[in-house]
Amino acid sequence: MGAAVCRNYIGGEWVDAATGETFESRDPATGELVGVFPLSTIEDMDRAVAAANEAWESWRLVPAPKRAEILFRVAQLLVERKDELTELMVREMGKVRAEAGGDVQEAIDMTFYMAGEGRRMFGHTTPSELPDKFCMSVRMPVGVVGAITPWNFPIAIPSWKIAPALVCGDTVVFKPAQDTPFLGERFVEIFEQAGLPAGVLNVVHGAGAVVGQHLVKHPDVPLISLTGSREVGVLVQQNAAPHLKNVHLELGGKNAVIVMDDADLDLAVDGIAWSAFGTSGQRCTAASRVIATGRVYEELQSRLVSRAERMRLGSGLEEGTDVGPVINRAALEKIHSYTEIGVGEGAKLLTGGEVATENGLDRGHFYRPTIFADVDPGMRIAQEEIFGPTTAIIRAGDVDEAIRIANGVRFGLSSSIFTRDVNKAFKAMRELRTGITYVNAGTTGAEVHLPFGGMKDTGNGHREAGQAALDFYTEWKALYVDYSGTLQRAQIDNQ
Ligand code: NAD
Repeated sequence: MGAAVCRNYIGGEWVDAATGETFESRDPATGELVGVFPLSTIEDMDRAVAAANEAWESWRLVPAPKRAEILFRVAQLLVERKDELTELMVREMGKVRAEAGGDVQEAIDMTFYMAGEGRRMFGHTTPSELPDKFCMSVRMPVGVVGAITPWNFPIAIPSWKIAPALVCGDTVVFKPAQDTPFLGERFVEIFEQAGLPAGVLNVVHGAGAVVGQHLVKHPDVPLISLTGSREVGVLVQQNAAPHLKNVHLELGGKNAVIVMDDADLDLAVDGIAWSAFGTSGQRCTAASRVIATGRVYEELQSRLVSRAERMRLGSGLEEGTDVGPVINRAALEKIHSYTEIGVGEGAKLLTGGEVATENGLDRGHFYRPTIFADVDPGMRIAQEEIFGPTTAIIRAGDVDEAIRIANGVRFGLSSSIFTRDVNKAFKAMRELRTGITYVNAGTTGAEVHLPFGGMKDTGNGHREAGQAALDFYTEWKALYVDYSGTLQRAQIDNQ
């Protein structure tokens, strides 16, 4: 497959950046060129926002079940094109084929699920405190959504934002990550193919600090949904504040797996390996800490090391690859800098800790699965998001201490406990300060009909997916109909 030249999609037209400037997207496993994209300016973003605003005036009035029919078609097209999208994802983002297929499947599931909302989107009716009066509440569309996404789930995460926004009657300006623009472009193309009216969904490629920031500051965009790093989340919140926008943030994680003495160790090793090294550790829900109690602490280390050392690095397109590349050179350097930090802090490096270059891996960005032990919970490798295939093993005395350590970070996305003791499991479910907790499974694997998001610095209290998503993409309106024919004053005439 040769490199494609792609465009922005604004008001139903595929267009170059106003300046004609471009940037490249490259395969992180081989460095090969995947596509060329418009390096857009604020002028391009202004045009997209204007198109989305214009389209909103009619889209908000399209009956929700009709809006949903388009989403159903999108989901069907995603099913038909799953293999093609999966292959493109492996090439552009690097994750292995099974995981890329899972990413596309998540978008399929989310789009079908949100299409179903077209015939639900329930409000409430409730009795009035006054006679001959009717009360109800309904969900109302809000306007243009600025959807800004990261590169690690290049189709799933856009679907978490675009599908609920559209069924709720909002229109969207989508700014995909600069490392995965092709998947963003393909996803939007499918909405066009499904018959979405012009202007309802627009895509503008380019730098976060330029077009992303302009979208966040734009006075005609009342909703901003960002998935990304904590640093960018803070900036987005600040930039949106002067217009009092509704801002939804899904940010970083420092997720822990707790392994108790009574755990099924084989299962725990499977769960940890999948959560720590899957997607090369580049998941917001990655297990970058393992907290183990006394009797299993040593045994777990040796089993994890032997598992990590058996993992095969390579292109995600090759059969038998366990761990693909990390996204780019800067990520590789950041991940390695944390190995140096961990060694400097006195943690014991059990395995990995180096860039992999053998057998042509030097053409891409590969890092060996890395495990530290004897990690103190306060060390930087146990506190900061590394976003690579690195995990830190920490010792705890009992379940209370394990939970205290797990909670002792600024983030609160996902957590997990391996135990056969129902009392410990329920205590952990209540006490772990994360938006998601797994029992006897790793820290990853969310399903689209449950709320997704984190506590503390992982977000700002909103949730993606499930019914919870509707709360962000709509605003509640209370309606009172008085059919008594007299003036009835609430709180006064009912006394
Ligand atoms: P990032 O914060 O660098 O970028 C995210 C998006 O924001 C990109 O599209 C980028 O172009 C844009 N952006 C950058 N600066 C901006 C600005 N000033 N204004 C507006 N937009 C701007 O994150 P990334 O490297 O793409 O992704 C990795 C991060 O995402 C990790 O921290 C990871 O934990 C997090 N993440 C969180 C979740 C979740 O659901 N909680 C899911 C996936 C990833």
